[in-house]
Amino acid sequence: MANSQKRLVKSRSGLRMVFVDEKIASPFTKEEPPWVPDNDCSHCQNIECQTKFDLLKRKHHCRRCGKCFCDSCSNNVIALPRMCFIDPVRHCMSCFLVTKKENEFFDRHIKNLIAGGRFRIHADESNTNPGKIFSCLLSSDHRNLNFEGDIGDTQEKICIDKIDAVQIAAAETDQQGNLIGTGIAIRYTNSIGNMVMLKMEVENGSKRKQSMTWIASMQKAFKLVQDSKSTGYDP
Ligand SMILES: [Zn+2]
Ligand SMILES: [Zn+2]
Repeated sequence: MANSQKRLVKSRSGLRMVFVDEKIASPFTKEEPPWVPDNDCSHCQNIECQTKFDLLKRKHHCRRCGKCFCDSCSNNVIALPRMCFIDPVRHCMSCFLVTKKENEFFDRHIKNLIAGGRFRIHADESNTNPGKIFSCLLSSDHRNLNFEGDIGDTQEKICIDKIDAVQIAAAETDQQGNLIGTGIAIRYTNSIGNMVMLKMEVENGSKRKQSMTWIASMQKAFKLVQDSKSTGYDP
């Protein structure tokens, strides 16, 4: 049984609340970057600034990329939920823009995914199979997509970490001319190690709009998980 307790850790960058068992951390989180050592850095790393550090011009580390900046190039203080900081932390200018965009995901898209959508899922490729209706919801720990169907209908959960491709399967255009997905295909490795492609069509009904929003949020989630798996720290 996984240990879902959290603990407070203090790093140079600030206080963070993390899972005791790191294996069950949210797949959307990102590791803290290593800090550029003070001795390796004599000038502000903002290429357009390059102020020389001295006793009056102190250096500061961006919590997101770990590079050194002067105060005026790193005075954006903003919440960084991906690294589990409790308080808003110092950001350089380029990281500030990335985090701001990302925080939309934590503020809005995660909630859409947890609220769920209603989809018709085809168990096989044949078009004669009418498929079955399931609600698809992100679990509260962000680790799985769970499916809830009628009594007797089952669809195995998808581990978010095991998704390797997401594709919009069908689309229509909204009033602003944006493409809105009405279907999504998710390719993942299932519990017995097989690669599976699951095709989900938005079900017509009262949750149609919510389900299309769910698809848009799922695309963002996939991009974030891919990014979390990469090891680079370039923002
Ligand atoms: Zn930065
Ligand atoms: Zn600077």
